[in-house]
Amino acid sequence: MPGYIGRFAPSPTGPLHAGSLVAALASWLDARAHGGRWLVRIEDVDSPRCVPGADQMILQQLSACGLHPHEPPTWQSHRSALYEQALQRLVAEGHAYPCACSRKDIADALAAAHRAKPRHGELVYPGTCRSGLHGKAARAMRVLTAQRVADGTWQPVSVSWTDRRFGAQAQNLAEAVGDFVLKRADGPWAYQLAVVVDDGAQGVTDIVRGEDLADNTARQIHLQRLLGLPTPRYLHTPLVLGPNGEKLSKQNGAPALDVSRPVHAVREAARALGLTVDAPTLGEALAQAASLWPDRYPDA
Ligand code: GLU
Repeated sequence: MPGYIGRFAPSPTGPLHAGSLVAALASWLDARAHGGRWLVRIEDVDSPRCVPGADQMILQQLSACGLHPHEPPTWQSHRSALYEQALQRLVAEGHAYPCACSRKDIADALAAAHRAKPRHGELVYPGTCRSGLHGKAARAMRVLTAQRVADGTWQPVSVSWTDRRFGAQAQNLAEAVGDFVLKRADGPWAYQLAVVVDDGAQGVTDIVRGEDLADNTARQIHLQRLLGLPTPRYLHTPLVLGPNGEKLSKQNGAPALDVSRPVHAVREAARALGLTVDAPTLGEALAQAASLWPDRYPDA
């Protein structure tokens, strides 16, 4: 497909593990099957969680597995000026506003409104500072997930999209997450803003990532629309589960990916994606996986 640009966007919180190789391989295979380009972007905006040296480890592991980006990798920590520009645009156009609320203020406001609905442990922001800071100091910048209509009431924003694997999806953003954070009180840019700005700036046409990230899609499409950016196609792939049935992750102790036998690692990752790959060499295993990919993950 001419113009296809895909990407793998790891957070350098540790080396790749078996689960993150699956996400990397899936995005690489989709780009290859479409004759497209594949980029790697190191998502290091959340600096307290980043582990020094993990970025280089990840790049080496990808390279050992034969997954070579078409352009030199980028680091989000070098791109703050772009995020600042986007934030200023959202503020100037009335889509983003400063918020003075602490977590406790939010919990208290929700309890007072009998709306204490923690979702994935996150509080749905009730919109307290939409009407201004009332003399308090700003702690974070948030984006509106509702529009003010003629009678002065707020109309929630709903986003609909199609995922190549899950089909038609919709989310009422105001109810599901509320006005979400773009820049955090403690300084860092929020993942939602950085990822949308970068995907837009890098011309990404196709996002292929693990299904644990599917729930972010509506927030990202909302920001794309406010920033006048095109919405890419989305495919959320199956996750590798650990022995406890939970997603394999650095947090629950997944070991670093062993790339001493890269063909073995690639075959295992392909198997997690439902592709039976038995080719003996790395190059052949990648080619075999790419030839099986389109039937398993068709375009629509
Ligand atoms: N940096 C995110 C993560 O490692 C992934 C971002 C994305 O693919 O949209 O969880």
